[in-house]
Amino acid sequence: MAVKTKTQKQVNTLISDLQPLEQSPVQSVLTKDQIETENFKLEELEFTDKIPNELLPNAQKLLQNLQILRSILKRPVKIIPGGGYRSQETNAKVKGAKESKHLLCQASDIRVEGLTPHQVHETIEKLISEGKMSEGGLGLYSTFVHYDVRGERARWNG
Ligand SMILES: [Zn+2]
Repeated sequence: MAVKTKTQKQVNTLISDLQPLEQSPVQSVLTKDQIETENFKLEELEFTDKIPNELLPNAQKLLQNLQILRSILKRPVKIIPGGGYRSQETNAKVKGAKESKHLLCQASDIRVEGLTPHQVHETIEKLISEGKMSEGGLGLYSTFVHYDVRGERARWNG
């Protein structure tokens, strides 16, 4: 039996009956399960301020990178009080930089038990150079190390 060909009119009708392609769905809010890693809880970034939903993807990227450091060092990596996400108000109180990556939930100030900040700093630098941690901001301070996932290289001593 010959395949019945459709007329252009029928084709046009079929086309007009098609549902339009779905618009890309509204970006759904990341869940805690998607953000938290084996050793890091979301609350560890929230000392004073709750992280707004739109910044949760930054929290996810940050914790994924800190988890890599944690897994390599096999020691707890502690985010110091105020060393996670900061609202504008909190940042002003602690005299943080105006463009601080803590405002974007991209930054962490960390300490690792049993290691000097210098050693932690060196380890992160090595992991970045090997492509194992994301490039970003790395600051060495006397009592902690600042690491952020801004995506571009920045280095300083506090
Ligand atoms: Zn910092």
